Amino acid sequence: MILEASSGLYAQFPFQGDITYSGKFKPYNANVRLLKNSFGEGKLFFGLSEEWEPVSREIQIGLIQELMLKILRRRLKPTHEKTKEIELYHIFMRKIHLAAPKDHVDPALLESFNRVNQKYFNELIELTNLRWGDESYRNLGRYEYGSDTITVSRALAHDAELLDYVIYHEMLHKKHKYHVAGQKSMHHTKAFKADEAKFENYAEVERRLGRLPSTRKKMRWIF
Ligand SMILES: [Zn+2]
Repeated sequence: MILEASSGLYAQFPFQGDITYSGKFKPYNANVRLLKNSFGEGKLFFGLSEEWEPVSREIQIGLIQELMLKILRRRLKPTHEKTKEIELYHIFMRKIHLAAPKDHVDPALLESFNRVNQKYFNELIELTNLRWGDESYRNLGRYEYGSDTITVSRALAHDAELLDYVIYHEMLHKKHKYHVAGQKSMHHTKAFKADEAKFENYAEVERRLGRLPSTRKKMRWIF
């Protein structure tokens, strides 16, 4: 698989490679490391979550290619930046939420989700899993792509407005579906931020979030 992936991107490929599937990743996460031995020869170690194992070969090749392009950006010039496999991989990732079972839907969070969905999305965002996270002021919310799950800090349990705002933010991640292989955080693009600012009383809500104990703006979101 590594040979097929590299030959689609590079004229010469001076690295060895190795793929491991593991249960320690979140669903459909992946990463890559480049290690050199004492002779200066490089080997790429691809770590894929176990959910990848039964996925079709072409799509996995697309994932491997995307990871290769990312880690080798400054070392090796590709002959192609896009391949058919990378396209298939992106299509797959945009649809993956459909396959995730929806078996963790907290009723209180569902109320907030429905409220926000009706008010801002014409009810067009399909239901995600909805879970409470730890009572943290640093990580108020996150959206996890592979399991289609929004997690919200318990610290917001008694503040309906902030709760709706954080749910709104995470729902925007589902709407914008921006995904890059091996990258932990999803970007808050310009379009994302423009949508975020459409929340009612946006400036005031942002100010209130900033006043939460030990909240530091930069560290507020995981995803
Ligand atoms: Zn975010």
